[in-house]
Amino acid sequence: MGKLRKKEVIQIHHIQKKFDENIVLDDVSLTIWENEVVVIIGPSGSGKSTLLRCMNKLEKIDQGKIFIEYEDVYQKSINNNQIREKVVMVFQHFNLFSNLTVKKNITIGPEKLQKLSQKELDELSDTLLHRVGLYEKKDFYPESLSGGQKQRIAIARALAMKPKVILFDEPTSALDPEMVGEVLSVMKETVKGGMTAVIVTHEMNFAKEVADRIVFMDQGKILAEMTPEELNSAHENQRIANFLQKIL
Ligand code: ADP
Ligand code: MG
Repeated sequence: MGKLRKKEVIQIHHIQKKFDENIVLDDVSLTIWENEVVVIIGPSGSGKSTLLRCMNKLEKIDQGKIFIEYEDVYQKSINNNQIREKVVMVFQHFNLFSNLTVKKNITIGPEKLQKLSQKELDELSDTLLHRVGLYEKKDFYPESLSGGQKQRIAIARALAMKPKVILFDEPTSALDPEMVGEVLSVMKETVKGGMTAVIVTHEMNFAKEVADRIVFMDQGKILAEMTPEELNSAHENQRIANFLQKIL
């Protein structure tokens, strides 16, 4: 038997995104392959969050095309819920529902969109809460959790959708330093299990450890893409060295 062909889960073709007259994504093309972990790095304002938000249609593009599993996300027959079941986001500021318990935060998505039974929802939340090490918090409200705990719940909530791709937008940059490690370790566990992920982060050691590919953005453009191995050797390369110095 021949080798299985890899599948493109997200295809971004020459997209442009403007806010008023400000071009924040300028002819960006990027493919995310199944089971791949792509890390995006770049200076503040370079368009990283906007690019992620375009991937699950939280932002609308002005030009170009985006395909999720070969379907054009701007096709009329696809609604936003279908896209956001497949491509989920973990935000810098957690965005948990403050009026819902931890357990309900995790189950509300699949309950509404996937019509699981109560028993299935209970099992799902138990499994995910054990996985992120917060089972004992299941009946608590978000306000009683630390930042690191909130972000671990946000990851559990994202995984509850059984997504095709998980997007992380600087998930540790709002945390106190002592809480960064617990969140990175849950992220590491998540991607080790074969989850396709796109991660915006400034944590370079983490990036080198988990990434299959590292994408560099600046001023709305992708400047370079490389593997962690290439990145290590590219330290000789003046252009990349200057760039890393600028962004880190
Ligand atoms: P990054 O995540 O790399 O810091 P962003 O994607 O947040 O960058 O922002 C890229 C550019 O788009 C910035 O100049 C920012 O000010 C602008 N921008 C982002 N979101 C909006 C918005 N909702 N309205 C207007 N401008 C925005
Ligand atoms: Mg951002």
